[in-house]
Amino acid sequence: MKYENNIAFAQELDKQDRLKHFREQFYIPPVNGKDSIYLCGNSLGLQPKTARAAVEQEFLDWQNLGVEGHFHGTNPWLHYHEYLEEKEARVVGARPFEVVVMNNLTTNLHLMLVSFYQPTPQRYKIITEAGAFPSDQYALETQVKYHGFNPDDAIIELSPRPGEYTLHTEDILATIEAHGSEVALIMMGGINYYTGQVFDMAAITKAGHAIGAYVGFDLAHAAGNIVLNLHDWEVDFAVWCTYKYLNSGPGGVSGTFVHENHGNNFSLPRFGGWWGHNKEERFQMRKGFKPMAGAAGWQLSNASIFTMAIHKASLDIFDAATMPALRQKSEQLTGFLEYLINDIGVGEDILQIITPSNPAQRGCQLSLLINKNGREVFQKLTDAGIIVDWREPNVIRVAPTPLYNTFADVFYFIQVLKGSLLQPKIK
Ligand SMILES: *Cc1c(COP(=O)(O)O)cnc(C)c1O
Repeated sequence: MKYENNIAFAQELDKQDRLKHFREQFYIPPVNGKDSIYLCGNSLGLQPKTARAAVEQEFLDWQNLGVEGHFHGTNPWLHYHEYLEEKEARVVGARPFEVVVMNNLTTNLHLMLVSFYQPTPQRYKIITEAGAFPSDQYALETQVKYHGFNPDDAIIELSPRPGEYTLHTEDILATIEAHGSEVALIMMGGINYYTGQVFDMAAITKAGHAIGAYVGFDLAHAAGNIVLNLHDWEVDFAVWCTYKYLNSGPGGVSGTFVHENHGNNFSLPRFGGWWGHNKEERFQMRKGFKPMAGAAGWQLSNASIFTMAIHKASLDIFDAATMPALRQKSEQLTGFLEYLINDIGVGEDILQIITPSNPAQRGCQLSLLINKNGREVFQKLTDAGIIVDWREPNVIRVAPTPLYNTFADVFYFIQVLKGSLLQPKIK
């Protein structure tokens, strides 16, 4: 698409946008009495207006039915996770049997590592991205130690080439091949949270399987952002949170994917709980854990109804919008953002986009390395009612999301950014 640097152009794109009505389904946080320019859906997605009523319904059922809500509620609690399966599966390109919504992200990552990190003295290494989200780093480090290995030896980190910020797929594949039969697991983000780089999950999975390793992804920044095909890519497992692009509230429930290839494999080690036990026998309260088939067999506890109610409401919006349509708008929005940044015309000594310029290698987020007065620039944006986020040491992440951001939002953001870059506060 050919972009133009003026507000009329942005407004015209908004007028033509077939997803524009979705914005009205969200609360846009006000700053100084006006709608903010919220470009932070990568950190915490906005509240769908339907969320409160969804939770209210569960409050009412609890109020009026007590324990009977498990069976006779509007959405009987006993089966709650099943109501989410199909829509969740569509968001990540999976079969309903392959997904379950439960717990929180890091918890689910540990549960998956129990099953898919089974080190032996010969094959115990994990390949991951350098600078992965800290929680993922800690999960890998502590799992490795739990199995009696030394993280410095067992964890192989993929680092960018000198002077670069993102990884080359060929380098990732070469590392996988070079370590071959030492590798038990490849586990990394689907999108790196800091740079916004999308990794080639299909190619990485194929290369991992070729050396006999399992392959899993943390999709915290990918679910609801890019089109995923976890089933077709034959990814072994994946986990994601629902409070970022999936707009399901702070600390909300998490999604987990286990490929069909493993869903009926009851010999995989796993940590069990009664909610993952064979449904027909769950209430017989007998000895002997028999997991359910599919991802549901990794559940531990009865469903956290209130957070799942929010997620259910949010998934209805994704189902109405569809991921391919969201992605199409997202590429245009982020493309417009990139075009306008480049048009500011400052050198890389002042501002540099570290996210790949190839749309296939990024989602909606652009990470801006601000080389001069980064904190001041961030403060000016905040003062102007623009909500973006700051990552140490000097990166501003900007994420226009297709559900509720407009091309005019992006244009306005650039006006403030430009002003603050060209006239930084003199200290
Ligand atoms: C946001 C995020 C997390 C957060 O983990 P929680 O268990 O939800 O607190 C973990 N990993 C990645 C890659 C993230 O982006």
